Amino acid sequence: MTKEKNVNPSPTGLAPASWLVTAGRSSAPGAPLNVPLVPASNFIIGSGREYARDDGTPTWEALEDVVGGLECGRAVAFASGMAAIAAVFDQLPAGSAVVLPDDCYQGVAGLVAAGAQRGRWTVQRVALHDTAGWIDACRTADLVWLESPSNPLLGVADLEAICAAPRKPGAVVAVDNTFATPLNQRPLAFGATVSLQSATKFIGGHSDLLAGVATTKDEAVWHALRQSRELAGATPGTLECFLAVRGARTMALRLQRAQASAAELAQRLQAHAAVELVRYPGLASHPTHATARRVLGGWGTLISFDVRGGADVADAVCREVGLIRHATSLGAVESTMERRAAIPGQQHLPAALLRLSVGIEEVEDLWRDLDGALARARR
Ligand SMILES: *Cc1c(COP(=O)(O)O)cnc(C)c1O
Repeated sequence: MTKEKNVNPSPTGLAPASWLVTAGRSSAPGAPLNVPLVPASNFIIGSGREYARDDGTPTWEALEDVVGGLECGRAVAFASGMAAIAAVFDQLPAGSAVVLPDDCYQGVAGLVAAGAQRGRWTVQRVALHDTAGWIDACRTADLVWLESPSNPLLGVADLEAICAAPRKPGAVVAVDNTFATPLNQRPLAFGATVSLQSATKFIGGHSDLLAGVATTKDEAVWHALRQSRELAGATPGTLECFLAVRGARTMALRLQRAQASAAELAQRLQAHAAVELVRYPGLASHPTHATARRVLGGWGTLISFDVRGGADVADAVCREVGLIRHATSLGAVESTMERRAAIPGQQHLPAALLRLSVGIEEVEDLWRDLDGALARARR
């Protein structure tokens, strides 16, 4: 099941792992080697940078350089992943047609439902694997919203085909690329208009910040996103950007190790008597494995698996793990796990589905923890 292929020939000619280490740094003599924290709301007039919300700050820009280069576009940093996502929806004229995957992040589903209820747009949902359905929707939609791999079912869309499909003039194709990271998938290279990252997850990588980044190659879209940030005020925090850049420096290493462990754990879980079903894009049994093989550079660090015995047993597994923390979120150095259907509004999901975000701990320690918890939960 090995899969480690670089999807990104970086625009600088550097491998992504090198780009992550060097990007955003100054090379001026006497400048600090690391990006400094610049806690400033305003600047002396004369340079074109006057007020942070309008003009950005050097610390925000360091994060934008790092992520923009990795996604191969120009980035705008926001207060959170949802703030970046809301800025994309903010562009839509009243009465727009939005297409959304059948499985996606609950925050996005909530935002879209709230907007639809207020009459801002109409919504159509398409199954992630239904490539023909997506291509068809591209002809009439104003915003084609994709999330791949999806949360939490880890469905993989054929972004290569969908992003290249003819679309309504002016339509935007946006991809929530949080689960893949720009190291495993580059939506802009496939032809998407915008790629979104919740930098809270893999980019930050240490569960200590909230931030989001939207990246595009389209100058007009970039200016519109900047204007949204300026007018709606969803600006990133200075410390958060500093920490996100610091986290990004090691992202390639963290991802490489965690996804190697995830692939191993997925195979062992699939063979485990207490587990009914394992969803992991790298498993041949995964419904969109063939697509994943084509579009993803790596299988990722998330595994969704259904425990035998229902929600109560799944809850007990969450209580019994020790090294793996019973917590939400993903993409951090520490492994976390939760029962997704326990989240309000997520009752449509399989009741015993556990979403495991594999961290960088030693894989044998993770397995002992998981295997032990599965055994104790059934007693
Ligand atoms: C966490 C997450 C978001 C939201 O990001 P925040 O930083 O929490 O606002 C959006 N999409 C996906 C896929 C996520 O996992």
